[in-house]
Amino acid sequence: MHMDAAWTLEAARDTYNINTWGGGYFDVNRAGQMTVRPLQAAGGELSIPAVVEAARHRGLHFPLLLRFQDLLRHRVTTLNESFAEAMAGEAYPGRYRGVFPLKVNHLREVVEEILEAGRPHHFGLEVGSKPELFAALALHEDPESLIICNGYKDRLFIETALLGTKLGKRVVLVAEKLSDLDSIIAVSRAIGVAPTVGIRLKLQAKGAGRWALSSGDNAKFGLTTSEIMEAVRQLRDAEMGDCLQLMHFHIGSQIPEIQTLTRAVREAARYYAKLRQMGFPLRYLDVGGGLGIDYDGSRTANDSSTNYTMDEYTRTVVATVKSVVEEENVPAPDLVSESGRAIVAPHSVLVLDVFGAIEKTSAAARPEGEPRHRLAGQLIELIDTVEPGTRREVFHDAVQIYEDAQSRFDLGLLDLEAKAQIEQLFWQAMERIVAAYQQEEKDLPEEVRAWLPSLSDKFLCNFSIFQSMVDHWALDQLFPIAPLHRLLEPPTHQATLVDITCDSDGKISKFINGRAPVRETLPLHALNSQPYLLGVFLMGAYQDIMGDLHNLFGMVNEAHVFLDPEEAGGFYIEETLEGSTIGDVLADVQYDKATLLRLMKKQIDAAIRDGQMMGSEGMRWLRSYQNALGGSTYLTHG
Ligand code: PLP
Repeated sequence: MHMDAAWTLEAARDTYNINTWGGGYFDVNRAGQMTVRPLQAAGGELSIPAVVEAARHRGLHFPLLLRFQDLLRHRVTTLNESFAEAMAGEAYPGRYRGVFPLKVNHLREVVEEILEAGRPHHFGLEVGSKPELFAALALHEDPESLIICNGYKDRLFIETALLGTKLGKRVVLVAEKLSDLDSIIAVSRAIGVAPTVGIRLKLQAKGAGRWALSSGDNAKFGLTTSEIMEAVRQLRDAEMGDCLQLMHFHIGSQIPEIQTLTRAVREAARYYAKLRQMGFPLRYLDVGGGLGIDYDGSRTANDSSTNYTMDEYTRTVVATVKSVVEEENVPAPDLVSESGRAIVAPHSVLVLDVFGAIEKTSAAARPEGEPRHRLAGQLIELIDTVEPGTRREVFHDAVQIYEDAQSRFDLGLLDLEAKAQIEQLFWQAMERIVAAYQQEEKDLPEEVRAWLPSLSDKFLCNFSIFQSMVDHWALDQLFPIAPLHRLLEPPTHQATLVDITCDSDGKISKFINGRAPVRETLPLHALNSQPYLLGVFLMGAYQDIMGDLHNLFGMVNEAHVFLDPEEAGGFYIEETLEGSTIGDVLADVQYDKATLLRLMKKQIDAAIRDGQMMGSEGMRWLRSYQNALGGSTYLTHG
């Protein structure tokens, strides 16, 4: 932690690791506000609090999701240009035909923006289900770009894909298992359309990281070598050998280590080459998803990081394929990647308002008067002996006393005054011990570290982790979090964040910490009478759609922001999406609004009849119940 006197903007950047995960998009301005440069150095810089203010003027409540549409476009262009440069650098004879996997962010405005930005590069779409295919077919217009159909398929799925083929689109039906291929052959024969077929490989090369189970012998998807031999026999027997055009693999999202990717690409390129040598006119090699985001800014093989950059990724793919096809003396395939996370993650920021704090269990001042119990006296003596040589021992003794006190209380041997005094002294001892380690910038021993969340403040944030940050809850994925303003002031509190669900899991007590292990608390500012806003960054991939309705907290409000140097502030909000209302989420679980109103009216009528309230008052209550059904599921302060 930086000392007050030395606090500068640089200190703020360091404290929140902004220079590393910010990726040239996020920074702090001289007013101490977080900023975004959606086009990096090529475009304007926006103050995020100014954008929040504009969204509030448009009537949007917290929590609020900001989407920076130009940033989305910038990611699409960057990925395509990175592949183009890698291909030029390697003198690669094929082309790049990337696709965006809808599963990573389905929102129409997001998909449309990606397709538009990708048009010059013939950037297409990837789908894994019927609803995704239905959306993709309708939005897709460029006959040069691909629609890749992954996932298990029934007849309707295949028929709809073939409708796309009939319309002149390049739709590839990827067989995930042998029986998929039977169905593809049968349905396309029945309706007389030649399919474009791909095969998903079950590679030996295993993924790494959290999503590693998408490959390897036990993977849920993909064909083994003997199944591939059977598949190509079937295609030849059906006189559809020419339809086989694509080899596909996907070893998991967020690949942390480049070495894993290299192994997988090499193996897949061999399959491609061997099949080409067998006479199949394969045209595409699809390396799936996996291109990761450096969420924690550590540039390591941590689960929330990547030990490579986007440029290293594209060079690795291109160079590895090139070396295999040259060795095998076959034409180079066009390369496809299904990079969704890398495109969408950085474009959205979740804005949370902190509406209160549960102060740490603290004892800044020593309790007045004589110790009320022998254990309190022992703690006072211990506190005075905390120093480098003794602090670990003092820690053990203090914890022992704390536990003894609890046992005595359980047995009825300790009164409340004494218990309060012992607890206060215990927390004072713990604070001294932690401070003693931190003063020397020593890493805390694990057993001491475990007490940190109890020694920190809990900042209450108006959101649901289950709705908005489900990967943090379910998979411990880290997202960078920083105050959106007051960054000229040194943070004075160490805090964990808690949400407004009734679930004890509804909290954040793991934060990014640069190259060091995660930290249990986030340095934040003392709350005052002004709103205090936190930004959760790099939120654009998966979180929106995977979120659930725990406690019936629904979708959050959204603002879609465009750069415009002509506008005051350099931006305008093109669109706002209202979050779910109380009525919406209740309807999702089968509560009909009209029925709820009727049931409430019946009870209010009865209360009026019984004289518990006046008629006019009863009607006011009913109106306010009715209005609230159309209001936010989150807390609405002011
Ligand atoms: N392609 C397939 C087949 C997937 O299952 C996924 C997601 O796991 C992706 C692409 C997207 O990968 P990423 O999250 O790395 O963008």
